[in-house]
Amino acid sequence: MQNKALLEKTVPNSGENNTLITLDGISKSYDSAEILKDVSLHIRKGEFVSILGPSGSGKSTLFNIITGLLPADRGTLDVHGEIGYMQQKDLLLPWKTVLDNIVLPLDLKGSNKEASRSKAVSLMDRIGLKGYEHRYPSELSGGMKQRASFLRTFLASGEIMLLDEPFGALDSITKGSMQAWLLEVQEAFNVTILFITHDIEEAIFLSDRIYVLSSRPGVVKEKLTVSFNQQNKRDRLINPELLVLKETIKGLL
Ligand code: ADP
Ligand code: MG
Repeated sequence: MQNKALLEKTVPNSGENNTLITLDGISKSYDSAEILKDVSLHIRKGEFVSILGPSGSGKSTLFNIITGLLPADRGTLDVHGEIGYMQQKDLLLPWKTVLDNIVLPLDLKGSNKEASRSKAVSLMDRIGLKGYEHRYPSELSGGMKQRASFLRTFLASGEIMLLDEPFGALDSITKGSMQAWLLEVQEAFNVTILFITHDIEEAIFLSDRIYVLSSRPGVVKEKLTVSFNQQNKRDRLINPELLVLKETIKGLL
């Protein structure tokens, strides 16, 4: 009998099997305004990929297309796996407590309520929401709301998380600790992350690969692999290569 695992390893392009999302030639216009033009990208299992572009370049529109909220005008989309989507503006329900908001998608799925809550509470502790379980969203700061919203997406996600500028509204100190936390979470739970940002340094710090979008219409200007400190991304912040790559990307935008 043949060794199947060995065979698969030797098949050329067998890595394709790990591709969870593929976009090929996606275009979108609103009325006569072209928003996205011929966008092709992919993300493989376990990757952290960022879409970096100025505001108005169609990043959020792209996520709406990937999640099926919006049809594309042209192009093809191929998704393998369950997607969790954290939209740019937080959508916590004002009449539910923070904890009930976080576990809402799990409650809707019919998951065990006690198990969902105990998992949520332990994670709330880790992102500085301890003690806010039974408060209401209006009692939280902007950053705390964003963290609660993040946690809700995280708990409800299958293997793929789409995060649309999740840390955009946070102060730089909170943002830094949330970024480090996100890398930990990704490592610990082995999730695949497609991330939108307009912050060049954030994209370099977090990503394995970056797609740089031009301003309107959004076109993929460049695909970059962040090849330094791949094993310990925290060291990127003190690596001069970060500044070099930052300048390269600035030159593209
Ligand atoms: P980004 O997330 O990169 O800032 P968006 O995808 O939100 O960009 O928006 C891209 C462009 O599309 C913007 O100019 C925005 O005004 C326009 N746009 C977004 N949604 C609509 C809509 N429903 N109707 C018309 N124009 C829209
Ligand atoms: Mg946006």
